[in-house]
Amino acid sequence: MIVECLTCRCHVEATQRGGFERLSDGSGPSTLYTLLACTQCGHPILVRQSNIGNMVEGDKWDTPYPLFPPSDLRVNPNAPPEIQAAFEEACACYRARAYTASAIMCRKTLEGLCEAHGVKQNALAASLKKMREKNMIDERLFEWSDTLRVAGNEAAHGVGRSISQPDAKDILEFTNAILDYLFSFRDRFEDFKKRRSEKRKPSKVPTENSAH
Ligand SMILES: [Zn+2]
Repeated sequence: MIVECLTCRCHVEATQRGGFERLSDGSGPSTLYTLLACTQCGHPILVRQSNIGNMVEGDKWDTPYPLFPPSDLRVNPNAPPEIQAAFEEACACYRARAYTASAIMCRKTLEGLCEAHGVKQNALAASLKKMREKNMIDERLFEWSDTLRVAGNEAAHGVGRSISQPDAKDILEFTNAILDYLFSFRDRFEDFKKRRSEKRKPSKVPTENSAH
């Protein structure tokens, strides 16, 4: 079976080492799990396929979906759909080895991220500064995002410039970390602080009698 090995990033004719077919229970098609070994790096790969065949044609398995190793690129489900779509496209470009395009889509994701927080200046540089001024991002995160912005600019505007695979991977992962920070941890931390301060509030004001 030809699959992309997420460990060595090669398309390989992987060797089958095991398999398990979960028969349909009537609510959906049968599913086939196949355990493979990468012929390039030797790492295990687990894929899932659904049966898209019919009574006449018999079993027909769709394109293998990789289950293991887990893809390191997961879009934060709390982000607005348009941001998820932009970042998913960045991931798709990366998987297709279109590294420069991937960096450009990460830049677009950053733009969407500012907009989603009500910050829309003419240039992304100004938007990021505004985010810092409003304390939505701290100094470190500002530095990250501003560096990603510059990398995205180089990718977008220099015809002769191309982004290398390791750089594209870092750009993706830092963008993902910023999404996680803004759409998960920041909001969760605010809730956490709120819960803590509510707990500390005295539940009863001592009355004259109880003071004795
Ligand atoms: Zn491999």
